[in-house]
Amino acid sequence: MKIVSIANLKGGVAKTTITHNLAGVLSEQGKRVLLVDMDYQSSLTALFEGDEARFENTNIARVLFDHMPLSDAIQPTNLKGVAILAADIDLALLDSRFANDLNAHFLLAELLEGQKNNFDHVLIDCPPNLLLGTRMALVASQGYLVPVAADRFSLRAAMHVQDVVANIRKRANPKLELLGILLSRVATRRKVTEDYIELFKKQFGSQLLNTQIKETIRFQEAATAGEPITTYLPNHEASDIFRSLAQEIRL
Ligand code: ADP
Ligand code: MG
Repeated sequence: MKIVSIANLKGGVAKTTITHNLAGVLSEQGKRVLLVDMDYQSSLTALFEGDEARFENTNIARVLFDHMPLSDAIQPTNLKGVAILAADIDLALLDSRFANDLNAHFLLAELLEGQKNNFDHVLIDCPPNLLLGTRMALVASQGYLVPVAADRFSLRAAMHVQDVVANIRKRANPKLELLGILLSRVATRRKVTEDYIELFKKQFGSQLLNTQIKETIRFQEAATAGEPITTYLPNHEASDIFRSLAQEIRL
């Protein structure tokens, strides 16, 4: 079972979109996938629940705060082979709930250990911060992916993520590996974007993935339909880009 986190302290860099669409690629490959929504904003969860509060009583907050068995909280989705451990707004309390537990960052790793025969892949969608939720995810993971927008704030944010990871590697998870820094939401034919892409190349060298996700309204349309691009528009260029991404990071 390969566990991968999609992390950045910045919001709006397509972490959730990338998690959802990579699940789409793995689903069409016939893989068994568990999605974990670690973000109290529950965006990934919302993509799967439509208008109903489907996951009100089956989510990671119930597992971490009320000792619900993980296997009861994991729920099937409309995507073939893909299950979800949903998020809940209560996750906003995660850091304060575990303020006195110095080993809390190991909790998700321990929980997922019990699922290792049930899934081929686990994809963890992190909150837009580097607090306990993201640390739990990174401690549980073998690899992590850092989506970035081609702008100044993203450059700084990606460097902060690297600092936190260095710490986690030293103390809790020496095997944690960077799968790559991924330019997401790339608008074509804009000088300032191209300048930033050059800057990212200089800063991150081969860590910057060759695959880039282009800006297209199709992602929002697919999300509105509650589908990844790979089922919504399987022949669209954006679907092929996600298939290439999965290949490049050897998912
Ligand atoms: P994050 O999880 O990092 O906060 P999201 O995945 O929620 O980011 O994306 C933020 C918004 O941008 C969403 O409305 C999403 O549909 C949109 N979006 C993400 N990627 C793209 C893209 N490549 N092109 C156009 N819109 C995108
Ligand atoms: Mg998100």
